[in-house]
Amino acid sequence: MTPKLPPHNWPTIEPGWVWLCGAGPGDPGLLTLHALNALGQADVVVYDALVQEAILDWAPQAEHIYAGKRGGKPSPQQRDISLRLIELARAGKRVLRLKGGDPFVFGRGGEEAQTLIQHEIPVRIIPGISAGIGGLAYAGIPVTHRDVNQSVTFVTGHDQSGNTPSSLDWAAIAKGSQVIVIYMGMKHIGQISAALIAAGRPMSEPVAVVTTATTAEQQVLETTLGSIEADITNAKLEPPAIICVGRAVLMRQVLDWQSQAAGAPPRNLDPLGRDDGTAASA
Ligand code: SAH
Repeated sequence: MTPKLPPHNWPTIEPGWVWLCGAGPGDPGLLTLHALNALGQADVVVYDALVQEAILDWAPQAEHIYAGKRGGKPSPQQRDISLRLIELARAGKRVLRLKGGDPFVFGRGGEEAQTLIQHEIPVRIIPGISAGIGGLAYAGIPVTHRDVNQSVTFVTGHDQSGNTPSSLDWAAIAKGSQVIVIYMGMKHIGQISAALIAAGRPMSEPVAVVTTATTAEQQVLETTLGSIEADITNAKLEPPAIICVGRAVLMRQVLDWQSQAAGAPPRNLDPLGRDDGTAASA
């Protein structure tokens, strides 16, 4: 059953339209109300690997079509997915294209929407909570913090060929960005961490790896730039993972709200050492 929406002038999916919608990082509670509204109306939901089954349960009336791809591979399938969406829309279906996180963040949503519009299929875009922000929040890591960073860089560890993106200037990123959030970084983390260290980031710099963030299986590894590759192997962590590099990771010592909800006390109430008297003493 689709949960009930509060009264509002909710838009209707017209037959022949495709709504390209973010499903958030995992926890169904992180869907937007527009996503929920769409789930209740769609004739067909075309969903990706990272979309939780529980979310599909909220579209019991719809046909569910899996369009998952495995990360980093060149995607002959991307064309097939777009063609499938066109075909469904032309058949007069109300199509919900559901993608993990936000559809326009490293999700090829831009390409899909472009192809649809080129084929004169009307679209609506529904943003979602991206894993690089919401997933870190569930690990107790704020992507910005006044005492740490005034900017944040989101990067992908893969390009279309499955390699570390050659267009990325890791030295510039290392110099210019206090906090770096890496999507799809697991495969090439050795190369990436080496590049950041070579560009001057300290081996001791805090790093967190958050896998299957916001789900019941979420795991968080706290490590350093120098140890990350070995630690990921030792902990046997698997993708999907968000990797966060920078002092924002230290904030987890005070903000790990999930452990606190489970009864653990905060490890350190002032991990950045502000020491300006505003932090409560332990
Ligand atoms: N559009 C998505 C990103 C798609 S790319 C978004 O905005 O979040 C796929 C990558 O996203 C994964 O390889 C991983 O790096 C990250 N990711 C997505 N969901 C995740 C989750 N629940 N936990 C950790 N990483 C996740």
